[in-house]
Amino acid sequence: MLSITPSHIIEYLFCPRFTYFEYVLRIPQYEEKYFKVTQGRELHEKKARENMAYLRKRIGATSKQGNQYLTNDLLRGEVDEILTLSDGSMAPLDFKFAKFNDKIYDTYKTQIYCYAWLIESNYHLPVKKGYLVYTRSKNKLVEIKIEETHISRIEKAAFSIRDIITQNKYPKATKYKKRCLSCTYRNICIQ
Ligand code: SF4
Repeated sequence: MLSITPSHIIEYLFCPRFTYFEYVLRIPQYEEKYFKVTQGRELHEKKARENMAYLRKRIGATSKQGNQYLTNDLLRGEVDEILTLSDGSMAPLDFKFAKFNDKIYDTYKTQIYCYAWLIESNYHLPVKKGYLVYTRSKNKLVEIKIEETHISRIEKAAFSIRDIITQNKYPKATKYKKRCLSCTYRNICIQ
């Protein structure tokens, strides 16, 4: 059975045709991995994780589960922490081995929305927010609001990816032409 990861979703949302080149034609990305979802994790990040109790308290978490590998009918992913909050909802928390520079990358948000979908499908509890912890900015905690529309966009993308891969569908190019300038497939793609 096809199992989609948050990286597939990120690539599809960048451009559906990217999915076709990589997973139907199986043309490898020749550059260094184009979408960096996870960064190298080093010892001092491990240390940062050990000092998280005060952050969880600030969030209002009543319990946490670390390194949870979750799947549903289409998606799979490993969530750094799943928090149960005092209002009965749940929230994913993801560590970033990165500095916070006043901007939350769309790729980070997409990952959090993927985890929210996985948590909802497995625990059947609402997920209304997620958290990022930037370990290279003194564990800066950033909250991301999650609405149903965010999760349904991920679901829709996952179904489209499945159709592209299982039915060899050639998808439309992104409408954002600027993306082609930096795309790893720009030399073989007729836009
Ligand atoms: S070159 Fe443009 S249209 Fe083609 S895969 Fe890349 S982003 Fe998509």
